[in-house]
Amino acid sequence: MNLQLASLAEQCGPEMISFCQQLIRTPSPSGDEQAVARLIGDEMKRLDYDQVWTDDWGNVIGLLRGRNEGSSIMFNGHMDHVDPGNPADWPYPPLGGEIHDGHMWGRGTTDMKGALAAMVHAVGLLARAGIRPPGDLYVAAVVQEEVGGLGTSKLVQTIRPDCAVVGEASSNQLARGHRGRVGLVAQVRGRSVHASVPDQGVNPHAVLARFVQRLETLELVSEDPFGRSTVAPTLIHADQASSNVIPGEIQLHLDWRNVPGETAEDILAQLGPVLDACLADVPGSEGEVVLNQRRLQTWTGKTETFPDVFPSYGLDAHHPLVLRGQETLCRALDRPVEVTIWSFATDGGHLMAAGVPTIGFGPGHAHTVHTVRERVPVSMLAEATLGYAALAMELGLVSQS
Ligand SMILES: [Zn+2]
Repeated sequence: MNLQLASLAEQCGPEMISFCQQLIRTPSPSGDEQAVARLIGDEMKRLDYDQVWTDDWGNVIGLLRGRNEGSSIMFNGHMDHVDPGNPADWPYPPLGGEIHDGHMWGRGTTDMKGALAAMVHAVGLLARAGIRPPGDLYVAAVVQEEVGGLGTSKLVQTIRPDCAVVGEASSNQLARGHRGRVGLVAQVRGRSVHASVPDQGVNPHAVLARFVQRLETLELVSEDPFGRSTVAPTLIHADQASSNVIPGEIQLHLDWRNVPGETAEDILAQLGPVLDACLADVPGSEGEVVLNQRRLQTWTGKTETFPDVFPSYGLDAHHPLVLRGQETLCRALDRPVEVTIWSFATDGGHLMAAGVPTIGFGPGHAHTVHTVRERVPVSMLAEATLGYAALAMELGLVSQS
């Protein structure tokens, strides 16, 4: 089987690469994934998937039915990407998909149209060759991961596979978890006055200045092998547009990366008293720390207010899915495969929160993601295609009991 898969993966290589380039050349910012969704759906149909559909939220799902002798697997990748920024800052055009020195360049090559192209073709090569996996295989191309994971969190309400593989960049090693992300807002109100008479108002900046300083002295949880939770102030907004007015309210966004076991409620319970102490130093001020909520609209026209939270997760290092995944990849790729922890949050957190055990395997290196040097080694795309095909045939045999 391994030899057969390897030769099929090699044969589909050129088609997979040019499909990936097509995806890169088709912009798909969060909320506007429609054109890429159509490309992916059409490609799945062309590759003889048993069923292809788009759900209400704009996720595209392809199904290859199994032999009913094993559990179902979902391969999960997001279609959206972050903004490419100024094209002049890139060494090659961000929407070009050009190949130079063995790397395909552009926004979304590693995060994560490369993985999507490899997944679509890995299951496609089984479909075309008439190979039935033990259990059903789903390839889910989801929307709006970069803004919190709305697509996957809705998808798992209708499709609940026995296990999942998320294709975020793992340098083609096997990932088994990550810290989560909790978006928070510290909102502080004072009293707005003319900036020439600050004594007559209450300046909310005085509170936030104290608050930011205290953040640096917070005791943060640490857990092996995830490292320490971290908190970073990011955006700041004032309710005024004029620089000669003391604002009445300011809002500071915080990006909190939490280790498994630390919940959004734990974080709010820790931060509330810290802000209260700062408010007490500035008479007349008030405020609170709240969970950030995003108002999202999908390309299909649905709207949703969605909490800015990616759950953290860690699948046990001895979980059968991790062990079987590692063994399968080592054998198929004919090299050692490490078990690692992602440095960033993924849709795996939403899958795990829905009770779906999830591992990660994806082409490309995390350090190029969200930068103007985003690229994916073409050899890794080819290797990932073989890796996904092998996982498709083997993970379904893992006992889920
Ligand atoms: Zn991503």
